[in-house]
Amino acid sequence: MKIALFGAEGRVGSALARRLEAAGHEIRGIELGDEPDVAGCDAAVDFTTPDAAPKNVRAALEQGVSCVVGTTGWEPGELGALAAEKGLRLFVAPNFSIGAVLMMRFARDAAAHFPRAEIVELHNERKLDAPSGTAKATADLIGGEPAIHSVRLPGLVAHQEVIFGGEGQLLTIRHDTTGRESFADGVLLVLEKLPELPPGLTVGLETLIS
Ligand code: NAP
Repeated sequence: MKIALFGAEGRVGSALARRLEAAGHEIRGIELGDEPDVAGCDAAVDFTTPDAAPKNVRAALEQGVSCVVGTTGWEPGELGALAAEKGLRLFVAPNFSIGAVLMMRFARDAAAHFPRAEIVELHNERKLDAPSGTAKATADLIGGEPAIHSVRLPGLVAHQEVIFGGEGQLLTIRHDTTGRESFADGVLLVLEKLPELPPGLTVGLETLIS
C-alpha cells in the first residue's frame, strides 16, 4: 500500500516507517509545516500531537483517504461522522501494541473478581498527555472509576500496571513496551483489515483481535 505517515520523523513514526517499508509498503512522510497532501495514498497514519492529529485527519478524509491514528490526548468528535459520510474508515487506538491490548483484556476479566483496582501508567517524560489513553481505556473497561497514577521519567518507554486488591490477596497485571517497533504489529494488522471495516469510526485494536 501507499501510506501517508504524519509524524514520520517522530519517535514512533521513525520506528514505524522502517517496519512498514520492510513489510513492502511505500511511505510518504509528512512533517509539521509540510502540506498535508495525501492524494493518491491508500491510507494515512498519524502519530503526531493532540493538536495536529484532528487537522491531519480532516485533511486526509477531505482528500478521500482513510486514516489510522495512534496519537493520544484528542477526541475524534465529528470526524467519525465525516468519515462515514464519505464511505471512509477512521481507526483510532490508544495502544497499537498487541501485548498491551491483552493486558487490558486480562484486566477487564480480573475486575469481575476483585472489589478494588488502581492503575499505574509510566511513560517517557516527553509524553504530552496524562493520564495516558491506554490507562483511560483500561479504567473504562474495568469500571468503578479506578485511580490512575501517571509517572513521567526519562528512561521509560510505555508501561502499565493494573493492581487489583482483595481480602488477603493482590493481583498485578503488567505490560512493558521496551521498543517502539512494538506498535508496528498493530498498525500492520489494522492496515490489512481496513477495507473490511465498516465506514466511520472504529476505536481500539481489541476490535480486531479475537
Ligand atoms: P514525537 O516523537 O514528539 O513525534 C511526533 C512527530 O509528529 C514529530 O516528528 C513532530 O514533528 C510531528 N508533527 C507534529 N505536528 C505535526 C503535523 N501537524 N503534521 C505532521 N507531523 C507533525 O512523539 P511520539 O513519541 O512519536 O508520539 C506521537 C504520538 O503517538 C503521541 O500522541 C503519543 O502519545 C502517541 N503514541 C501512541 C501509541 C499508540 O500505540 N497508540 C504509542 C506510542 C505513542 P516536530 O518534531 O517537528 O514537532
